[in-house]
Amino acid sequence: MGLLSWGMYPKIKNKIFSLRSKEALGAYIEKTDEFIPHGNGRSYGDCALNENILYAKRYNNFLAFDELSGTLTCQAGVLLSEILDTFVKRGWFLKVTPGTKLITIGGAIASDVHGKNHHVEGCFSECVLAFDIMLPNGEIKSCKKGDELFRATCGGMGLTGVILAAKINLKKINSKNINQTTIKTKNLKETFEAFENYQEMPYSVAWIDCLAKDEEIGKSLLMVGDFADDGDLDYKSKKKLSIPFNFPSFALNNLSVKAFNTLYYAKAKDGVSRQKVDIDTFFYPLDAIGNWNRIYGSGGFTQYQFILPKESSFEGLKEILTKISASGKGSFLAVLKLYGKENGNYLSFPLEGYSLALDFKIEAGLFELLNTLDESVVKYGGRIYLTKDVRVSSEMFEKGYPLVEKFRAFRRENNMDKKLNSLQSKRIKI
Ligand SMILES: Cc1cc2nc3c(=O)[nH]c(=O)nc-3n(C[C@H](O)[C@H](O)[C@H](O)COP(=O)(O)OP(=O)(O)OC[C@H]3O[C@@H](n4cnc5c(N)ncnc54)[C@H](O)[C@@H]3O)c2cc1C
Repeated sequence: MGLLSWGMYPKIKNKIFSLRSKEALGAYIEKTDEFIPHGNGRSYGDCALNENILYAKRYNNFLAFDELSGTLTCQAGVLLSEILDTFVKRGWFLKVTPGTKLITIGGAIASDVHGKNHHVEGCFSECVLAFDIMLPNGEIKSCKKGDELFRATCGGMGLTGVILAAKINLKKINSKNINQTTIKTKNLKETFEAFENYQEMPYSVAWIDCLAKDEEIGKSLLMVGDFADDGDLDYKSKKKLSIPFNFPSFALNNLSVKAFNTLYYAKAKDGVSRQKVDIDTFFYPLDAIGNWNRIYGSGGFTQYQFILPKESSFEGLKEILTKISASGKGSFLAVLKLYGKENGNYLSFPLEGYSLALDFKIEAGLFELLNTLDESVVKYGGRIYLTKDVRVSSEMFEKGYPLVEKFRAFRRENNMDKKLNSLQSKRIKI
């Protein structure tokens, strides 16, 4: 068996070629009919899977750093964690970071990832000044903001070429600590009010109990925060515990999720509470447990993440949470986030509104449930996130992405559509 995605579903055999030099990559591209780039496999579905995989994680040198402006140039296989290990102690942090630091720069650009501060800083592409990319004809192009290649590649799921190196802006910090405020809410209305009341805070995210019913639907813990100013930059990555093997499939069921959700919610103080936490606790709580994807068992799991425009978010979320709660298919992880304006990239996910992300074990009846959730997402004018997806139909996907035709045309005109494909790109026909 070859490389898997984080959801460990689907499992397909693949041949792996590890990127070490531009010359070797050129030769690989010339002799390979079809392939897809792969970073650290933290995408959940099939966007980084194909029979031929170009594994980019070992192409991982830092190339230059300007201490005055905080501009870092590095190869595309560098992990965000490697940037933090080197630069936090020098007073620099990522402008935009997702909920795991175990992703590559190439993966961050290709999914145009976002973090808890999308409503303030936008997507990862906002901090990308330029990148070099090898096109399917072997040509290397340098590309900057404003170029069509930039708009197609950021969020383009590896379907425009192999990103080789990027120049990104880091953010100045004066502490490795974050002053965090937690707000406990009793229902969806209170959760929305809390998000709006705290929207000036640069970072915000809510954990939501997706098995709550009736008047408790949408009860949450909203965590907001900002960097402290205490001069403590003594950052060391925490040692992590690891899940040693795949759990048996019966270990995770509706009862265990309900018990977890009840305890997690009950543990938090009522009303508003405050604490100082470090970068890893605030931004990357899941990274503390290595291979946590194994708790879903060897059959794997998927994440369903959608976003709805602000004006329809409340009604839409209520409808979708009601469907999930009625289905009894639970999710430990249900994360609600507020987003700012969308950018002009052809396939970037965020738009101004609210997004919900939920994990589900792969089991009978799941995809039928997700199909009905798709209908609600489309009805309320939303879209689903490709980097988490493994099953959406081409029709449903298209309804959420008005610029998809431009993306397709760009791929066709530049002969990218034959050589670069993933299981996902073929399923959704992009
Ligand atoms: C615990 C956890 C939390 C997460 N939280 C968030 C979050 O808060 N926000 C968010 O946006 N995402 C989040 N993600 C998703 C993750 O950030 C993205 O899936 C990211 O793209 C993974 O990067 P990777 O390096 O692992 O790439 P892979 O998963 O290997 O690949 C992802 C995509 O990038 C392409 N790609 C990779 N390298 C290159 C390259 N060199 N050139 C061209 N294309 C390339 C692949 O073809 C594929 O389409 C989370 C994932 C996990 C596991």
